[in-house]
Amino acid sequence: MPELRLTDPLKNVLGAATAKALADGLSLRTVEDLLRHYPRRYAERGQLTDLGSLEVDEHVTVMARVLKADAKQYQDRRTGRRADRLEVVVTDGTGRLTLTFFKQAWRQKDLREGRVGLFSGKVGVFRGQRQLTHPDYVLLPDHDSLPDAPPVASDEDTLLRFAGQLIPVYPATAQMPSWKVASAVGIVLDQLPPTLDDPIPAATRARHGLPDLRGALLAVHRPESRDDVVGARERLRWDEAFVLQTVLAQRRLAASALPAVPRVAAPGGLLEAFEQRLPFTLTDGQVAVGATISDDLARTHPMHRLLQGEVGSGKTLVALRAMLAVVDAGGQAALLAPTEVLAQQHHRSITAMLGPLAERGMLGGADIGTRVALLTGSVPAARRKAEMLDIASGEAGIVIGTHALLEDKVQFFDLGLVVVDEQHRFGVEQRAALAAKSRDDSRPHVLVMTATPIPRTVAMTVFGDLEVSTLTELPQGRSPITTHVVPAAEKPAFLDRAWQRIVEEVQQGRQAYVVFPRIGGDRATDEDVDVAEDSEQERRAPLAVLEWADRLVEGPLAGLRVGVLHGRMPSDEKDDVMTRFAAGPSAADGVDVLLATTVIEVGVDVPNATVMVVMDADRFGVSQLHQLRGRIGRGMHPSLCLLVSEMPPGTPARERLDAVASTSDGFELSRFDLESRREGDVLGASQSGRRSSLRVLAVLRDEDVIVAARDEATALVGEDPELASVPALARAVERLLDEERAVYLEKS
Ligand code: ADP
Ligand code: MG
Repeated sequence: MPELRLTDPLKNVLGAATAKALADGLSLRTVEDLLRHYPRRYAERGQLTDLGSLEVDEHVTVMARVLKADAKQYQDRRTGRRADRLEVVVTDGTGRLTLTFFKQAWRQKDLREGRVGLFSGKVGVFRGQRQLTHPDYVLLPDHDSLPDAPPVASDEDTLLRFAGQLIPVYPATAQMPSWKVASAVGIVLDQLPPTLDDPIPAATRARHGLPDLRGALLAVHRPESRDDVVGARERLRWDEAFVLQTVLAQRRLAASALPAVPRVAAPGGLLEAFEQRLPFTLTDGQVAVGATISDDLARTHPMHRLLQGEVGSGKTLVALRAMLAVVDAGGQAALLAPTEVLAQQHHRSITAMLGPLAERGMLGGADIGTRVALLTGSVPAARRKAEMLDIASGEAGIVIGTHALLEDKVQFFDLGLVVVDEQHRFGVEQRAALAAKSRDDSRPHVLVMTATPIPRTVAMTVFGDLEVSTLTELPQGRSPITTHVVPAAEKPAFLDRAWQRIVEEVQQGRQAYVVFPRIGGDRATDEDVDVAEDSEQERRAPLAVLEWADRLVEGPLAGLRVGVLHGRMPSDEKDDVMTRFAAGPSAADGVDVLLATTVIEVGVDVPNATVMVVMDADRFGVSQLHQLRGRIGRGMHPSLCLLVSEMPPGTPARERLDAVASTSDGFELSRFDLESRREGDVLGASQSGRRSSLRVLAVLRDEDVIVAARDEATALVGEDPELASVPALARAVERLLDEERAVYLEKS
């Protein structure tokens, strides 16, 4: 028989039916797939599963002891006949779980009081009790009952009889309960060749004290002790971190090998003139990151840098200085925004910051100035055409837009820098499309900005092909934001007080936001509003801006100038409202209070706004609230953020709000936020290829592994970019890329 290989299809090794069940239910097709299907946990002989921890609707495998088994009669509603139902109650010593079998009373003789078994099925609820209906089960050998055992033991029995103290419990399906997976794994393990091709080079393993792959796989599937499991899982976490970091190191290497035109600002140009105009001094962070970026821009290879930082730390200014440097060097810079509102906002604020410097060719414009073009889906055709001409001729040094910028017909004269704002809504593919727009073979430099701060390891994993710069401090002279939770259910009077606060602030010449989680109106779809999920209970629909606008205008906000902004409005209306809000109270047609959805979440910058009331705040995620709150506290007046919620104290939703109220440190909040989510969600939808390849690695928890694996991977790729010396790693890299491609194809 030829030696078993990790790439062999399972159907060569296992029966066709088993191979099919593994493929259909668990997507396991090759020997390696199966061996990388690690136990979720281990049942320990003599230790029963904590039944209190079972989640409804989950497929579980539990070890429990039979407490009692009663056959009951009931009337079948369909046939009207009497039938029997076997009700077995199992226990972990304290908690209970009911197992129900219809018309299978004969099982009563197996499921006798005191017997211990593994029971597997989907957790349901009946009359308030958790139960499994028709669970699969195997009973542990019961010494008293052995003489009665069937003469020929089944696979499962053999498995359990000879399994060690720790019995692996696998992620399973109805067709493939945990012990069937275990027996399939057992068959494969028994045929493992004496050595396996290892994706982690021996030197790396030695440096970090990691077992080899074969040892780790044996230990994770057939542990003799808890220590075996710990060592094996450490090694398997390394596998995942190392393969991913190798992919990222290769991408960085490939990107850094591409040609780019160095862009060094000539003295006496736009950048200098702009800096003289700036009404404030740069923060130390802005200066430092600015220097790093200008070094990057001076190189003959493209910059790929992530600029992340606290909300309000002034990332846009850092990006603008980089753009001006590129324009001074004769190139163009594009700023890509995720939404129309944000593109317009950037256009408005950048034009304002540049003043006469943005008015080249116009009366009063500076000689050294440039033009700032705006290109979004809704720019009218004639204007669009003019903008495209300016872009193609190089007349417009700075081009701001949405994904409309990515269209083929948009031609740049000499694109030197692409700034991607708020990356979390932009795909890698789109970044690539814009990068391909430069002249000849050279690539533009790329700067990516995130909306909210992200923990270091998330940056390393999600944006691991980018170098990272971080702005942590806020500019001087910012006034603090005070945040309170307004318990609308317990204390309705507090909500009245919130409206009153808005009125008071407006009377002081300030402005306010009121944010709603939903648009409302006729259309039921509110897909453009991102709301936090909470499946625990049926809840009323989130409050809608269109349903509250009249109420507020006629009620507590009567007499104030109120504007409404949401994602379904035509873009010229959106722009109009935003312009009037930005113009402020002194303008004849200014807006004092903006009622909005999360369209204002990112980038909107009106320093005179000092109050924000977030309705149904529990419907938003932590980072989202932090980002929303960043819209106030931008000027010299102290600001107030009120998170209105009906959630009672102590609920997880309310705890999230308390966390937001307790700190304004975005890094702390992003950790809190990510810790309370499932791992897959940490990486986000656009990273689903990556996330499905992470089984034992947890991005937040395993910082040390990720950092060490990154160093090792970078060194290895530096010496051996094609991974010729580690074929198993080259294969693992291919597997990961295939998964990412598959996910990408599914999405498109
Ligand atoms: P974010 O990092 O959240 O994108 P912005 O770039 O929107 O922050 O900046 C927030 C505000 O701070 C803007 O109004 C910007 O003009 C202002 N700002 C930026 N840098 C400074 C600075 N060094 N001193 C004072 N204000 C600054
Ligand atoms: Mg911003």
